[in-house]
Amino acid sequence: MATPENKLAFDAGWQYSPAPESTDHIKVRKRYGLFIGGDFVAPEKGKYFDTVNPATEEKLSRVALASDADVDKAVKAARKAYGPWVRMKPAERGKYIYRIARIMQERSREFAAIESLDGGKPIRESRDVDVPLAAAHFFYYAGWADKLEYAFPGRKARPLGVAGQIIPWNFPLLMAAWKIAPALACGNTVVLKPAETTPLTAMKLAEVVADAGIPDGVVNIVTGAGETGAAIVNHPGVDKIAFTGSTEVGRIIQQALAGTNKKYTLELGGKAANIIFADAAIDQAVEGIINGIFFNQGHVCCAGSRLFVQESVAEEVIQKLKDRMETLIVGDPLDKNTDIGAINSRQQLDTIESYLAIGQGEGGEMYQSSCPVPDKGYWCRPTLFTGVSQSNRVVQEEIFGPVLAIQTFRTFDEALTKANNTPYGLSGGVWTDKGAKIFKMTQSVRAGVVWANTFNKFDPTSPFGGYKESGMGREGGLHGLDAYLRLEA
Ligand code: ADP
Repeated sequence: MATPENKLAFDAGWQYSPAPESTDHIKVRKRYGLFIGGDFVAPEKGKYFDTVNPATEEKLSRVALASDADVDKAVKAARKAYGPWVRMKPAERGKYIYRIARIMQERSREFAAIESLDGGKPIRESRDVDVPLAAAHFFYYAGWADKLEYAFPGRKARPLGVAGQIIPWNFPLLMAAWKIAPALACGNTVVLKPAETTPLTAMKLAEVVADAGIPDGVVNIVTGAGETGAAIVNHPGVDKIAFTGSTEVGRIIQQALAGTNKKYTLELGGKAANIIFADAAIDQAVEGIINGIFFNQGHVCCAGSRLFVQESVAEEVIQKLKDRMETLIVGDPLDKNTDIGAINSRQQLDTIESYLAIGQGEGGEMYQSSCPVPDKGYWCRPTLFTGVSQSNRVVQEEIFGPVLAIQTFRTFDEALTKANNTPYGLSGGVWTDKGAKIFKMTQSVRAGVVWANTFNKFDPTSPFGGYKESGMGREGGLHGLDAYLRLEA
């Protein structure tokens, strides 16, 4: 029997965030259990870990560390819930998913503030991008629940069973929505694991799931680090794995799944080329470059981290970029004026700083804006490298921080060759006044998404995913349904 953790957590009282007055209404529990079978339950081994605010280094809450036994319990709860869930009328399932979307909208301010507190991203982004997009995914997939026969005409669409879902720390709530919404719409039940540094919005989502009256066990959320994730991947009762995270862990998961019947999707790293032709609207392109690399501190797998600028406008673009970087405000994620928030963790800051040293060691010229940064917390000023070449590590490897590597090109073919010279293939961008050039480039860049005269635009109807070391399978849109179904003739 599950030990009810609800009571325990409430007895422990609410902990008010240590943030300014504007967030007084935000309540984070002092401690969270695991969300299994519709209840918050204590972990079998009684272990918990801290989640900290990366902008202050202060502890926000403690969350349960799920062991193999807890994962087993969650998978069993999901399996038990599967039969009734799959037999339920699809339109009824849809209603539940709509309900999650609506409650999420009602609590959007709280979700946004917690996302920024736990993950470090600017409140403007949590409020205007992460939370509305997460709700939009639930709305979008709720609509498909009773229309699968139209999505795949002439074929029988059957759910897979229990989906194990492992997500990263850069878009915690949004990634949970990307994973849970299509899985439920297709009739699967889920066990989801948020990343260890950003569990809090997933726990809020668990509360929403409970408040929406979703049948017990249809959605289970277990917290923990890599070992908990591995326990989900290796559990024989899991029928599908959906993973978003590093290429390194993606490889481990792929190896673990080889020879099993589990279906999987992997959304991994990236090193996107953002290509600026001389005929582009330059000021607009500069904004697109800034957004492409500094959005969410550059903790974005599809970030435009490699800039290719046509030689004749390179000087102008680089100067404008530097001027614009000087205007960016780095600091308190909860301040509406902040452009760049905190780096998600000490570990990630160390990684980014090691790349700054590597880039300079390789002969790159580093430029950082001169803005002040707070004394406490994890911060990195917006940074760019010039004087780097294709073989440099800062050009080839994913840094996952606010660091842009700039190269120039003369011809279309040179830009294309350089853009495709990467082990990754997740996204790209092209900026030009000429439609023909857009079509030619978007068809030739080997990447799952290529934006034209814009960057980092997301929509639930649009599939997302990569080639090469950026992973396999697609999420979003119709493709996102396919990933959670077995299609029969
Ligand atoms: P990052 O390097 O960006 O932190 P990771 O790929 O390490 O990304 O983490 C993404 C998610 O994968 C997190 O939820 C993490 O806990 C989980 N994870 C890490 N190692 C493993 C593993 N071996 N098996 C399954 N999940 C893992």
